[in-house]
Amino acid sequence: MKYQTILLLGAPGSGKGTQGATLGRIPGFFHFACGNVFRTLDTRTPIGKSFLKYSSKGQLVPDELTIELWRIRIDQKVETHVFKPDIDCLVLDGIPRNLEQAQLLDPVLDVRCVFHLHCQDRAQLIARLKKRALKDNRFDDANEEVIRVRLETYERETAPLLEFYGSSCIAQIDAMRPPVVVLNDITNALLAQNIIPRGTATLTGDDGQTG
Ligand code: ADP
Repeated sequence: MKYQTILLLGAPGSGKGTQGATLGRIPGFFHFACGNVFRTLDTRTPIGKSFLKYSSKGQLVPDELTIELWRIRIDQKVETHVFKPDIDCLVLDGIPRNLEQAQLLDPVLDVRCVFHLHCQDRAQLIARLKKRALKDNRFDDANEEVIRVRLETYERETAPLLEFYGSSCIAQIDAMRPPVVVLNDITNALLAQNIIPRGTATLTGDDGQTG
């Protein structure tokens, strides 16, 4: 069974994590943030060491390792019924991050919509990351050189995914506006495309439950 999925795509600092976490609070959506999963790893393990090695330089963790970790974590969430694929919509944030990952995930994802959180203003992205470095104690946000490499990595490896998924399923969202405005755009697009997780009330209310 393929997972009904929406993707959040955007440069570091574009607000994927904020929007993903907010959507994940709504019944019927399950948020998976790849970066958060990496950050919970024990840094003494081989995969934890690999994460530190690459993220501290602003680079991506190798694809096979990343996808393997993704599978293990998603399976755990399914087994513990935290993520219920038959009724929940998966909100992916930070994965896939390049074409190779998209191809590896393709057999298991039914991508309904890709939200492109775009931002032309590089200086604003950098300012957001620096603010986050202090607030969330993120070492990879604190260093200008690492930030520069991450933005380049995004342009080179992740931005081509927009072409991979094709314009018909991409919703362009101006990510420079306040989070509540961005969220409003996202939820409006979901409703317009009738992407309402199975098992939650439909707009007509004919198969849903209240409360
Ligand atoms: P941001 O979106 O701000 O770059 P994340 O928290 O999503 O931050 O990711 C932090 C770091 O974790 C990345 O710079 C990268 O090294 C690693 N990472 C996260 N997701 C992936 C992925 N899908 N593939 C490879 N590396 C990843």
